[in-house]
Amino acid sequence: MISKTLSVEATQKVAENLVKKILEAGPRNGAVVLGLVGDLGAGKTTFAQGFARALGVKEKITSPTFLIVKSYKLEVISFKNFYHIDAYRLNSPQELLDLGLADLIKNPQNIILIEWADKVMGILPKNSIFIDFSHGEKDEERTIAPRLPAS
Ligand code: ADP
Ligand code: MG
Repeated sequence: MISKTLSVEATQKVAENLVKKILEAGPRNGAVVLGLVGDLGAGKTTFAQGFARALGVKEKITSPTFLIVKSYKLEVISFKNFYHIDAYRLNSPQELLDLGLADLIKNPQNIILIEWADKVMGILPKNSIFIDFSHGEKDEERTIAPRLPAS
């Protein structure tokens, strides 16, 4: 379902609804992986903030641009860790593998959200949830469009 939002709060509400669905669906074989794709300012970090908050993360979420990976403990049923990754500064997907992504992806207790996922597409699981973010006509307008799952 494509969402058009007109505020930060509305974008975060879309994230919150996705968290509900993920928690209802429960764990998969491996981690739940979300790949956010879209230009600078399209709303990926804003979405990540709403997403983390809906998972019960109390810390302030900022974009892990320089750290690449930030982890947060979860206290929800089925999931133990939330990883927020920013692939913007990576020179190659291999750098994310060097940071241990393959193990994170295997663990069904992990939820992993990756900004600039198009930079590391090739190393993400087939069942990742990819979401495209784009600017609309108005200043505060954004389109959030989940891609159909790969079959
Ligand atoms: P990205 O991580 O994709 O670079 P950010 O979430 O960091 O984008 O930045 C989005 C910017 O756009 C923020 O400054 C936010 O306040 C602003 N903004 C305006 N309208 C919206 C909206 N509808 N959804 C998300 N962010 C919005
Ligand atoms: Mg960002």
